[in-house]
Amino acid sequence: MKRIQLGNTVFEGENDAYLIEADRTTLVDTAVSIPAVRADLREGLSELGVGFADVDAVVLTHWHPDHAGLAGEIQTEGGAEVYVHEADAPLVDGRERPFATNPAAQRETFERWGMPAAARDRLTEFFETEGTDIYGRDAEVTPIADGETIDLGGVKLETVHLPGHTAGLCAFAFDPRTVPGHEPVSGNGGDGNGGESPVEAFTGDALLPRYTPNVGGADVRVEEPLAAYADSLVRIVDRDWDAAHPGHRERIDEPSRRAAEILDHHRDRTRRVIDVLESGPATAWEVSAALFGDLEEIHTLHGPGEAFAHLDHLERAGVLERDGTAYRLLDPDPNVDDLFPTTALDAAST
Ligand SMILES: [Zn+2]
Ligand SMILES: [Zn+2]
Repeated sequence: MKRIQLGNTVFEGENDAYLIEADRTTLVDTAVSIPAVRADLREGLSELGVGFADVDAVVLTHWHPDHAGLAGEIQTEGGAEVYVHEADAPLVDGRERPFATNPAAQRETFERWGMPAAARDRLTEFFETEGTDIYGRDAEVTPIADGETIDLGGVKLETVHLPGHTAGLCAFAFDPRTVPGHEPVSGNGGDGNGGESPVEAFTGDALLPRYTPNVGGADVRVEEPLAAYADSLVRIVDRDWDAAHPGHRERIDEPSRRAAEILDHHRDRTRRVIDVLESGPATAWEVSAALFGDLEEIHTLHGPGEAFAHLDHLERAGVLERDGTAYRLLDPDPNVDDLFPTTALDAAST
């Protein structure tokens, strides 16, 4: 297995695609459909003696264009089978329009977040300059579901559905000893999962090494995004993978610890949201401004989306009530730990 590092700066930046040369030549995630990044991917593959036309299978962690953008183009060149979770499939095969090109969805969402006109205009303008090319061609997809195995011939990928950042985000777990040219990582002593077979996983944007993946803004279709993501993080902790190969930047050698850290970060963020509301009712936009300050480009979407995810979570728990687009604190001192699931690692640290 080889990691192909892409130099893109769009979205979370520095995407990774992974090449597995099993019986079927397989690419896990592609790249955003921008000339310079397409060139990066072509060059990275060609250094390994592979062209787009040689790819038999493209396995996508989620629909975002920095991961799925070139799937259609690769398929056109060599007929690759493109796998993606059924919840994200409509955005890869073109049945649904992505948020950035869907004015009706934008209006409804910006309204719900209480976004002022100037910020809306700025974001719409950003979407327009970004263009629709980044999404690349539509691909014909093979939809997959949680627990399904993708057989690459010699290597089997187990689909692990981890919704939150997007509705259909999946990790793909594998036995590293089966992967040609891959040295198994012995992050947890080489015997995670209770001392039997080592297991590693491609985690897309479910688990990233430096940033906490955005929830709430990155895919506005996700129902109860924060609760969904918290459950996904617990699932990662429970899996106790030996290593995670993320969608951006470097390998994560202690995925369980990283997942527990991100969950903790969301508990803290929830506390900060409650602090903001102590000085009076506020909209998602206003909470975002208090937490993150002035935002630009894609962050103008991610900031209020994240604030909304937390507000929505607190409203469902009865801590807040919503009045139009503003949220008012009902319980000024809730036990935040009770609002999130606990993991085996939380129990160990207390
Ligand atoms: Zn993403
Ligand atoms: Zn990403």
